[in-house]
Amino acid sequence: MVDISQRMRQIDASFSKFFSPCSGSIDLSVGIPGFDTPEHIKEAAFESMRKGSVGYVSSQGDPGLRELISEMYKREYGVECGPENVMISFGGKGAIFALMQCVVNRGDNALIQDPGWLSYSEITKMAGGDPVSVRASNEREFVSGVRELADERTRLAVFSSSANPTGDLYNGSLLKELWDTANERDFLAVSDEPYHEILFDGRKHVSIGRYGLDNTVIVNSFSKTYCMSGWRIGYAIAEKPLIDAMVKFQLHQSTCVPPFVQEAAKQAILHDHKGVRERKRIYERRRDLFMGRLKHLNGSVPEGTFYYFPSVERFGMDGDEFSKQLCEKGVIGVPGSLFGENGVNSIRFTFTKPEHELKSAADIINEFVEGLN
Ligand code: PLP
Repeated sequence: MVDISQRMRQIDASFSKFFSPCSGSIDLSVGIPGFDTPEHIKEAAFESMRKGSVGYVSSQGDPGLRELISEMYKREYGVECGPENVMISFGGKGAIFALMQCVVNRGDNALIQDPGWLSYSEITKMAGGDPVSVRASNEREFVSGVRELADERTRLAVFSSSANPTGDLYNGSLLKELWDTANERDFLAVSDEPYHEILFDGRKHVSIGRYGLDNTVIVNSFSKTYCMSGWRIGYAIAEKPLIDAMVKFQLHQSTCVPPFVQEAAKQAILHDHKGVRERKRIYERRRDLFMGRLKHLNGSVPEGTFYYFPSVERFGMDGDEFSKQLCEKGVIGVPGSLFGENGVNSIRFTFTKPEHELKSAADIINEFVEGLN
């Protein structure tokens, strides 16, 4: 057996061990929607296959789908873009991977929201760059931290809004500040927006792209909004020269996203408005039920996403230990350390499960915490 490359030896995938480690437990770990893909979206894929759409297609993605995405971003979020600014990718993850390969050189750094989505840092390392953690216990802290930490090696700053795992939503004035910093210092502000439709209490998503695509990349996904996590489809929106480079990468890496998956995505954008609204309402109800039933955990109320990220520090243990012990009692959450060094004292729960399971989970958590006192 030959040696595994140095590059891959420094990549961490230990999080996979947290997914389903205690059988028979209520699993609130993985960040997946609580619903099957809507039937009409599946049907669009079947129909496309029946019609023979099963061969290679454009590496940039179906022009009709790109048009729909650019129209949506213009209409909903005021982003000036056209289909030439869009690349269809393998999930949001595929877009972030392609992006990093295109802009990060060895020795460059990427500023990473911390706590934040756990793949940003590993994808940076795979591109030869150094991830730099930016404390983000709230949105203001992240934006100020980026201003402080950006240096001549910084190629990008990446964050999600609403944010995984904290549920924080970034407002327009903070995003403008971040956009200004990126343009003054010449790095990319990468806005990862897979929860753009999962916002609560009447809130509306703001995309940093509304201030212009200069030094800005928007990443989005069909995984969460349309319950299509296993279909592997997402997209990037950016200035055309950057999109052209990413398309070149995707051409040699995987050729194209399957055409029938892209047809299903068109159906989702065009005809799932009611489903999107309905699921959002259900997630909001589940959030309120779950948080309302928990008696002893403190965390800010998520403004979006389907995650709750309370601190467990006052129980005299970190998130790793808390989640290990809780798992043995029957509920699986994700230890906050997986989201970065600033998450070590927290635990993430996904509240997409049906209400009766969330109730049982909250009761188990209450009992567990009461036993600690
Ligand atoms: N970005 C964030 C913030 C996420 O939470 C996730 C998935 O959990 C992704 C990206 C990846 O999503 P996709 O399934 O589109 O690759």
